[in-house]
Amino acid sequence: ARDTTWDVTLVGAVLPAGRAVVLTFQDITAVEEAGQMRRDFIANVSHELRTPLTAVLGFIETLRGPARDDPAARDRFLDIMEKEAGRMHRLVEDLLSLSRVEDQERNRPRALVDLPQVIDGTLDALRPMAEDRGMQIAWTPPAGSIRVAGDASQLAQVVTNLVENAVKYGRRDSTITVALSEPAPETSLRQHGVRLSVTDEGEGIPVHHIARLTERFYRVDTHRSREIGGTGLGLAIVKHIVNRHRGRLRVASELGKGSTFTVILPTQDIETPAEPG
Ligand code: ADP
Repeated sequence: ARDTTWDVTLVGAVLPAGRAVVLTFQDITAVEEAGQMRRDFIANVSHELRTPLTAVLGFIETLRGPARDDPAARDRFLDIMEKEAGRMHRLVEDLLSLSRVEDQERNRPRALVDLPQVIDGTLDALRPMAEDRGMQIAWTPPAGSIRVAGDASQLAQVVTNLVENAVKYGRRDSTITVALSEPAPETSLRQHGVRLSVTDEGEGIPVHHIARLTERFYRVDTHRSREIGGTGLGLAIVKHIVNRHRGRLRVASELGKGSTFTVILPTQDIETPAEPG
């Protein structure tokens, strides 16, 4: 019982290595860091919402006043308001996705998902967006099915976010390559999962930015990303989905050439049906 009455300084003085003290400080640091991250996040969200909201409120004022009897101006302002409202809508949708995946991160999905099928369906929906920028999506589905334990709609979201980025940051009239490869039979499945990669022929990402890309609201070029309509949350969502699947995300990029985002999903949990006989 005497141990519990020792205060931190006394513990520090008595224990030769002072380990109890160090542990106490680490704990507080972790809690403070979490608190700081939460405050930063709230500040970021508020800022991201305030910009479009201020614009919409400003245009409502203008429409009530100076632009009241000017149909051309009215149409132009309504277009801008629609764009700004769209931006807020995307942000709220992405925030909801992010919080949903974060909630689920501990519970690993167990259902078997046919990856090529998920990719096929997702790419069909993304082609029009790519074609608008004169881009092709090259994808050759593997002959058989490749199954992983996963959540089909979240894996589709990963493909969507990576391909949308390839479209947004890729070069016009270029090709986006989506590939899926299985580990060679002789390699250990524990180390080498199924690889899903998305390669663009865009501007590439300076190396010092790469480690931070999956942070919420981190952008290489904030102004540009906002112009293009990005929320700054796409890769944070990808990271949490990949974590939930106990996978890994790798980024390789060369300036002026393009980038490859690779998701490696573990396959070791798949039970191969026993051969009869
Ligand atoms: P955003 O909504 O801004 O695109 P993301 O989280 O999806 O947010 O990406 C974060 C940042 O990473 C982007 O703002 C962009 O600067 C950079 N980025 C993402 N994908 C690519 C890519 N394929 N090529 C170049 N830069 C990219």
